Amino acid sequence: MTKIKMPVPLVEMDGDEMTRIIWKMIKDYLLEPYIELNTEYYDLGLTERDKTDDSVTVASAEAIKKYGVGVKCATITPNAQRVEEYDLKKMWKSPNGTIREILDGTVFRTPILVNGIKPAVKTWELPITIARHAFGDIYNAQECEVDGEGTAELVITLPDGTVERQQIAQFDEKGGVVRGMFNTTKSIESFAEACFNFALDTKQELWFATKDTISKQYHHSFKDIFQEIFDTKYKAKFEKAGIEYFYTLIDDAVARVIRSNGGFIWACMNYDGDVMSDMVATAYGSLAMMTSVLVSPEGYYEYEAAHGTVTRHYYKHLKGEQTSTNCMATLFAWTGALKKRAELDGNDELAAFATKLEKTSIETIEDGFMTGDLVMLSELDKKEKLTTEMFVKEIKKRLDA
Ligand code: NAP
Ligand code: MG
Repeated sequence: MTKIKMPVPLVEMDGDEMTRIIWKMIKDYLLEPYIELNTEYYDLGLTERDKTDDSVTVASAEAIKKYGVGVKCATITPNAQRVEEYDLKKMWKSPNGTIREILDGTVFRTPILVNGIKPAVKTWELPITIARHAFGDIYNAQECEVDGEGTAELVITLPDGTVERQQIAQFDEKGGVVRGMFNTTKSIESFAEACFNFALDTKQELWFATKDTISKQYHHSFKDIFQEIFDTKYKAKFEKAGIEYFYTLIDDAVARVIRSNGGFIWACMNYDGDVMSDMVATAYGSLAMMTSVLVSPEGYYEYEAAHGTVTRHYYKHLKGEQTSTNCMATLFAWTGALKKRAELDGNDELAAFATKLEKTSIETIEDGFMTGDLVMLSELDKKEKLTTEMFVKEIKKRLDA
């Protein structure tokens, strides 16, 4: 059998712990036997990040700008305990944060659906993709407690020295709390562009919602910027693709999401996205079935699993115990990246293989062969719990059949 050729590389970012082990299994069993895998490899494992003073993370993000597509394994974001465990020079920043800063992207999270695992919401037949605006609002705010009487004001100083003031509150002797938060037009615009592009890319409707009736400047700006960009740049493209952009109030959106059949992208302001992505992920089943892609306004794509390095399973693995870790989200990160590479290069063979691999892995679960996390959720009568490696091999068996 001749292997599928891949003339242009994609950026491969290796990672940590259990997902690093899954990474190798996916490559060994499910990719390299079929594809002449062409990647530019970056080791983002914590040891290598420490050794290179984290320059490897920056280099990998720069490489995504060069090649357009990357696939990333889950990585440890160090805390004090990790500094000790890995004897680190310092508490390095989250690689995902660093990469997002360089690419300035929006993260889209989509669940993988399989028969036998029903979403908590009965009507959801298709995945709901959540896009979270990961900049500003309460996440980059200044706030303080006010102990007693006092006046809080909003003060803007313009470059010419002009000062604009607005009173926020006059506190009584019991005081209160106050917060100053912001967002930037540039960041909102880039969020909107990423959402419109991703909707076109995946041929799905785009929903966006804020509380513009109450927040007449702040939230309303988000609404206006989206609408303006849509009208001037995307309206015709959406019409041609047969998809819609739909704006509503956040409370109305929440009600409609629950009544919907899924199959759309839900763009959320930062806090809404933080909260709603956890709700939607849980309602669809397992974190191990949630995929994630970072899309930059320039159209660079970085695929990964939404979950972390599954530390608890890794420590079992180190003790020589069997693990049953689900590789689906990591596998779909790979297939997502391969399909994007294929699309950019017009490589039909590669696209067909990636699609077949996704289909085969879903069929494996639907036939009753799955990892422990899914056994608990699946309503199939006949189901078997496989180890991490057995599940990967079961997919391969079907791929070869
Ligand atoms: P986690 O790795 O997502 O795992 C949390 C729990 O979820 C696991 O213990 C496991 O539950 C279940 N789970 C997650 N993925 C699974 C899979 N593929 N198969 C089966 N079960 C799965 O989160 P964490 O333990 O909070 O974080 C571990 C490390 O990951 C941290 O160092 C953190 O910094 C890092 N992290 C990285 C990323 C990223 O790179 N994108 C994201 C999040 C966290 P049971 O133990 O009950 O089986
Ligand atoms: Mg959250």
